[in-house]
Amino acid sequence: MKKERQTAIAAVTAAARLCETVRQQRSQPLTKQDASPVTVADFGAQAIVCQALAANFPEDPVIGEEDSSMLQQPDRQEDLTRVVNLVRNILPQATPEEVLQWIDRGNNEIASRYWTLDPIDGTKGFIRGDQYAIALALVENGALKLGALGCPALPIDPSHPEGQKGVLFLAVRGEGTQMLSLGDPTPTPAKVNPTDDPQRLKLITSVESRHSDRDKQKALAAALGMTLPALRMDSQAKYAAVARGDADLYTRIPPPDRPNKRENIWDHAAGAIVLEEAGGQVTDLDGKPLDFSLGAKLTANRGIVASNGAIHDRVLQFTQQEN
Ligand code: AMP
Ligand code: MG
Repeated sequence: MKKERQTAIAAVTAAARLCETVRQQRSQPLTKQDASPVTVADFGAQAIVCQALAANFPEDPVIGEEDSSMLQQPDRQEDLTRVVNLVRNILPQATPEEVLQWIDRGNNEIASRYWTLDPIDGTKGFIRGDQYAIALALVENGALKLGALGCPALPIDPSHPEGQKGVLFLAVRGEGTQMLSLGDPTPTPAKVNPTDDPQRLKLITSVESRHSDRDKQKALAAALGMTLPALRMDSQAKYAAVARGDADLYTRIPPPDRPNKRENIWDHAAGAIVLEEAGGQVTDLDGKPLDFSLGAKLTANRGIVASNGAIHDRVLQFTQQEN
């Protein structure tokens, strides 16, 4: 996995730099057909990561969140130019045609070996000035092999939230999770806090209240005897927070109006392996492992339980009986 690891670190670091450039420009978001927001940084980051994967692993398909159709519309010429200019900060020779092709390299079908990419996970957090992540993972035969989670806005030292920011979490199956600060690439291991003491346990949940069933999350926290207030954070940075012991439990419970909601693979692949290799555990609400062999969605899995490992079985006792 040496070449995979190096490629993932370089690609996610470059994409993170691109995203932070856009944040400094405070540009207006665009709106996708499904009404969700997207920015020029989502497209630019997908182009950068897919270019790196195409150059190093030309046989590997990529399943990414974005496609170029919106940027090809006649009234989007200006946005395309902005994306191309952002990509040119990293790849000076890039042409508009190449940028569109790189973005669309992320629209493959899954295969026995594939990469999955969320170029900006937590776009709403990105726009708000909060947390977001660049999430890239490698899957072989339905199982996670490598995950790179770039968190450009995450404080390096959680006890100094206003201090230096930007952490990349890199996990390889069987080799643990490493944290690299985006400025200083000396790795340090990430480890969960394996506590089951209810007074110390911390729940972490989405900022967007529609993304999970808040009432059930509260009932679960009460059943576990948790007393500390829940942390709120956008994106897969939540997995990273559990992986380094800032929090102990992240659940995604489908809201009552959408009980059959299924998760996208790119919203969980990188985060899940980062947490597992840091000593945590990730299953669905029924205790089943996440199955990444079925397509762009986790169709065989209901919701998510991501924990420090120590409390996983107790959480499942609650979520399994809830169904
Ligand atoms: P988070 O930042 O963890 O709240 O979630 C971000 C992810 O939530 C995005 O990548 C979307 O795929 C997903 N998402 C968007 N809208 C919804 C929704 N209404 N319910 C559940 N998840 C959603
Ligand atoms: Mg996402």
